[in-house]
Amino acid sequence: MTTPARRQPAGREPAGRQHRVLVLGGTGEGREVAELLWQQADLEVVSSLAGRVLDPVLPVGSVRSGGFGGPEGLATWLRDNDIEAVIDSTHPFAADMTRNAARAAASTGIPLIVLHRPPWTKCPGDRWTQVPDLAAAAEAVPGLGGRAFLTIGRQQVRAFAGVQDVWFLVRSIDPPDPPLPARHQLLLARGPLRLEDERELLQAHHVDVLVTKDSGGTATEAKLVAARERGLPVVVVARPPLPAGVETVGSAQAAVRRLREMVGPA
Ligand code: NAP
Repeated sequence: MTTPARRQPAGREPAGRQHRVLVLGGTGEGREVAELLWQQADLEVVSSLAGRVLDPVLPVGSVRSGGFGGPEGLATWLRDNDIEAVIDSTHPFAADMTRNAARAAASTGIPLIVLHRPPWTKCPGDRWTQVPDLAAAAEAVPGLGGRAFLTIGRQQVRAFAGVQDVWFLVRSIDPPDPPLPARHQLLLARGPLRLEDERELLQAHHVDVLVTKDSGGTATEAKLVAARERGLPVVVVARPPLPAGVETVGSAQAAVRRLREMVGPA
């Protein structure tokens, strides 16, 4: 599916912009990168969203939506759209997209920068159980608590569907894909999430264990602080590995600086 939708700030037109950059988005950093690119008069930005969120927050500039059809589809799209560089600002757990971007970059010779936000770091007082994947997280939960706060997005809640004797508070932006755990309550919410709200939530639902992916960043980290304050155990799912050889940066600003080096001065 491709849904071209334009959302350009008044007074800014792509005409005269010489370098087209694709931003693989769906994150706050993706929107930040798009905004920073827009501020540079010679750059045109096209952001790409997976198209899974029903009502996405849109970045500035052109936006397309939906998969490309694997690495080959992306390579064709890059050539057809005269893209000079790609900034992958997808979520650290969007491993397929990043792998496809790396393969498309290798086959086309179009440079790729991967914005990989730093993971969260364990602080004094944290009671983390770090696990390699969601299956391991599901195994760990019953040994840690009976009322779990599950904050892993909507796509893989099914990994917890077979967990017995645990009640889950499941939070995601859109309703999660079934099957869901037998005993659960849904909470639809979008970050950024405030510490006082997270505190209240843990207390109101008598949560005794938190489950999260190691997403990093500030938008959703308040839950970790709230869990630390209450001395709760937290199951932290490790990130999937990055493809070998990709160039990474840690912030939107660093991505745009590196992009500037690649396409040359304005
Ligand atoms: P994924 O598993 O790595 O990607 C699966 C497929 O979805 C890709 O192969 C690609 O399809 C398509 N896709 C993913 N991101 C895309 C993008 N930005 N533009 C166009 N197509 C895209 O990714 P995911 O985990 O489903 O995440 C999807 C989107 O949600 C990403 O943009 C990511 O930043 C955002 N997100 C993910 C998480 C998470 O925890 N995974 C959390 C917050 C936000 P084709 O092979 O057909 O090109």
